[in-house]
Amino acid sequence: MHHQNPVFIPGPTNMPESLRRACDLPTIDHRSSLFADILHPARDGVRRVLKSADAEVFLFPSTGTGGWETAITNTLSPGDTVLAARNGMFSQKWIDMCQRHKLEVIIVETPWGEGIPADRFEEILTGDKGHAIKAVLATHNETATGVRSDIAAVRRAMDAAGHPALLFVDGVSSIGSMPFEFDGWKVDIAVTGSQKGFMLPAGLGIAAFSKKAMAAAETGGLPRTYFDIRDMVKGYAANGYPYTPAVGLLNGLKVASGMLLAEGLDNVFARHTRIAEGVRAAVHAWGMELCAARPALYSDTVSAIRTPEGFDAARIVKHASQRYDIAFGAGLGQVAGKVFRIGHLGSLTDVMALSGIAAAEMVMADLGLKIRLGSGVAAAQEIYRTTAQPLALAAE
Ligand SMILES: *Cc1c(COP(=O)(O)O)cnc(C)c1O
Repeated sequence: MHHQNPVFIPGPTNMPESLRRACDLPTIDHRSSLFADILHPARDGVRRVLKSADAEVFLFPSTGTGGWETAITNTLSPGDTVLAARNGMFSQKWIDMCQRHKLEVIIVETPWGEGIPADRFEEILTGDKGHAIKAVLATHNETATGVRSDIAAVRRAMDAAGHPALLFVDGVSSIGSMPFEFDGWKVDIAVTGSQKGFMLPAGLGIAAFSKKAMAAAETGGLPRTYFDIRDMVKGYAANGYPYTPAVGLLNGLKVASGMLLAEGLDNVFARHTRIAEGVRAAVHAWGMELCAARPALYSDTVSAIRTPEGFDAARIVKHASQRYDIAFGAGLGQVAGKVFRIGHLGSLTDVMALSGIAAAEMVMADLGLKIRLGSGVAAAQEIYRTTAQPLALAAE
């Protein structure tokens, strides 16, 4: 089996050939100057993708989950309180990690399909006169439900309450694909991984710290060793790591961030919006609904699609894999069996998206759902042929 089909899971995403090659390096000495020429441009590239002038970017051999752990263990102290909304599997997992670290979590229960309720956050933060809350945790793009939250609104809520808590943002499935303003939103820590918007294999946990977060890491902190950014700071100052870095992936990250910046971040975001609009047009043509409650919440990187009552959505994912060797995302947690997901982020073209929509139609028709073959494809074609062509991915 050659696996020539693109994947339609919301990470890991399809890898451009140029990035596969960039990761494929002979062994080099990670204490040599050769490594410095990989490390520093990779960190700088991520900082620019985040739209930050001076964030400290840390790149761990890990994944996005390690980025979460980096955020909380470096800045919070035992027993500290944090504030988070629970509106999907990823926000839930971050909350769980905080609880396992014995942090106190104020959880705002939010329907799955809704975004972060910034107004509730403002009330809670305004009521927290003693500033017990040390950090606000926000999942920018809830990959389980295909919901994008408004981080600018979360920041406005914090400012309106005059609250000094740190703002931590999970941007694992948004950074590099949807607008993200590290400085503009006054984000204190942004977290992502290598295998989503950066189009690389999994293996890097990425965390960017503001000056305020760096200061918190000096005065606070939970037990930490592997993810201790103080060791990382010392390592970077000497062009190295406190342990053995994932050199090939770091080179991939240098090239990937260069590709995104060469395409132009606004063009990258517009390409994602356009491809997502085609997918959404298909979903509506099928007579189906998104899990996201309103258009303002629609994610441009993943669509979670509700299947009819009584139909197990997991069958779509299984049949697609077994019959057509094509990968869609399953429903997670509360929406398991109720939705299937089409990931549409990273290295993707109109034509690739059309193939995924066509495959989804075959799968649903095979399983007896009332789908007219070609209806979703036609709706997406109409979007793709009548809107501006995206720039091609930067020359490989
Ligand atoms: C994928 C994802 C994660 C988990 O990242 P890993 O790299 O798998 O550890 C966390 N948050 C969101 C929003 C994600 O999409």
